[in-house]
Amino acid sequence: MKREFNVTSGTTLRCKGWRQEALLRLLENVLAVGEAPEQLIVYAALGRAARDWPSHDAIVHALKTMDEDQTLVVQSGKPIGLLRTHAQAPLVIMANCNMIGQWAKAENFYEWEKNNLICWGGLTAGDWQYIGSQGVIQGTYEIFSRIAERHFGGDLRGRFILTAGMGGMGGAQPLAGRMANAAILTIEVNQDSIDKRMKIGFLERQARDLDEALAMIRDAQARHEPLSVGLLGNAADVYPEILARGVIPDIVTDQTSAHDLVYGYVPAGCTLDEVRALRTADIPRLMNASRASIVRHVTAMLGFKDRGAIVFDNGNLIRTHAKEGGVERAFEIPIFTEAFLRPLFCRAIGPFRWIALSNDAGDIRKIDDHLLEHFGHNAIVANWIRLAREHVPFEGLPARIAWLGHGERTELARAVNRMVREGHLAGPVAFTRDHLDAGAMAHPNIMTENMRDGSDAIADWPLLNAMAACSSMADLVAIHSGGGGYSGYMTSAGVTVIADGTKQADARLALSMTNDTSMGVMRYADAGYEEALDEVQLKSVPHIRL
Ligand code: NAD
Repeated sequence: MKREFNVTSGTTLRCKGWRQEALLRLLENVLAVGEAPEQLIVYAALGRAARDWPSHDAIVHALKTMDEDQTLVVQSGKPIGLLRTHAQAPLVIMANCNMIGQWAKAENFYEWEKNNLICWGGLTAGDWQYIGSQGVIQGTYEIFSRIAERHFGGDLRGRFILTAGMGGMGGAQPLAGRMANAAILTIEVNQDSIDKRMKIGFLERQARDLDEALAMIRDAQARHEPLSVGLLGNAADVYPEILARGVIPDIVTDQTSAHDLVYGYVPAGCTLDEVRALRTADIPRLMNASRASIVRHVTAMLGFKDRGAIVFDNGNLIRTHAKEGGVERAFEIPIFTEAFLRPLFCRAIGPFRWIALSNDAGDIRKIDDHLLEHFGHNAIVANWIRLAREHVPFEGLPARIAWLGHGERTELARAVNRMVREGHLAGPVAFTRDHLDAGAMAHPNIMTENMRDGSDAIADWPLLNAMAACSSMADLVAIHSGGGGYSGYMTSAGVTVIADGTKQADARLALSMTNDTSMGVMRYADAGYEEALDEVQLKSVPHIRL
């Protein structure tokens, strides 16, 4: 059967209520904006919206037929049952890719995935929260802006950023770099990925070879003009070549899918066809080749660091695999969260987002206006909303992201629920956030690296976060694990709440948003961060300090 991947518009319900309809539209949306929807893949190599097509169809059927007092239970993308609960309980609870510690190994994941026992939900793929590239555009833009503030007098004009990977997430880098006024060169091994980013306007120019790419960047730097350039090549070849020429970018990072040595990273010296063949013929050989290539790739990144570049890991586990491959210094490259974003997370300021369920872009513009009017004093938010309006196209259902914190999220969500109730918007709005958010993720190599109290690998926090979301009447709650190589690198929690204009939604939004960000602040307060302890005082967060 040939499947179509469209979003639904308007306010006609196919389910018994807007809450169920909203979750169905979000599931449709992640496939409509996904990288390979015919395989249910949304992003990050294997991040799936459902286990397989029978599971997907059964989820759709359940959402269409379930009552408000039922809860759909989903295990790694497969619907397991419909429990009778109550009208304030979550409509969907799910757990994706959680494995027992000692067994959480990439080899086991691949085996269980092949036997259809498990699937990887990424962060926002498996729980239908992905909004296309906007989330990662904003996250990447914020990182570049923080680096600009700290190292370059607040402006990246005339600065050179080198990076790699133009997939579902990495494809945002050229646009984010340009929005931050830099000259950015992105290396990508697959021409299809380059074509896709050119087509949607995220990438401006493709160079024929490295000479031309570096000339374009030099020229843009000299003119202090922003520019994004793509180059077809393997980063493990191109980074060392740039270093050998003595060209030192101002900022170096990478967003190839290095977390996955089999279905993600492409080792230098291999064509895409050879990689595809090895995936069935010889997985251990492919893993070794990827690791060896990552060793060269990260060694060059360290070379740039030694020569003065600001080098950081952008959350793809490239350092972890380099270390396994013998690069002892790999972790001298800092992770972006600790280096640039932790003070924000301490106040539960993070990637909050909302989606216009009727597919009316006017709803997002009205919420933008509301934000600029009521949160205009918040420079990060106001700056982003203005930039996003100008540069970020909507993909799938119109959506917006903004880094709001404790109290602010509750205030916005309730105001929007009021706008829905009073007929100012064309339809209900879904509120959600990334898993990479304050208390929602334990990932010792990304989110919680070098925590002040040493609690990097304690997974209690996201589990408590998910349980608090259930107790707070959220509409969908998810617990995900996996990450790099799909083994036990991280555990995280996802939450979605629907603003359908009702009084019940008002209560659900108030409790879910407030308790979600409270959990974030308390997680960092418990670890001893001053900003979080300050937030506890400032906003009466109910933290118990021993
Ligand atoms: P993806 O699989 O959609 O795309 C990866 C791209 O990298 C592909 O286009 C691929 O062709 C290219 N590539 C692979 N090996 C390469 C090589 N050696 N040289 C050049 N190009 C190469 O993955 P994605 O969704 O873009 O995610 C990329 C990575 O970023 C993942 O590891 C993901 O987990 C991570 N990620 C991090 C954050 C964050 O925390 N900042 C957010 C999202 C994703």
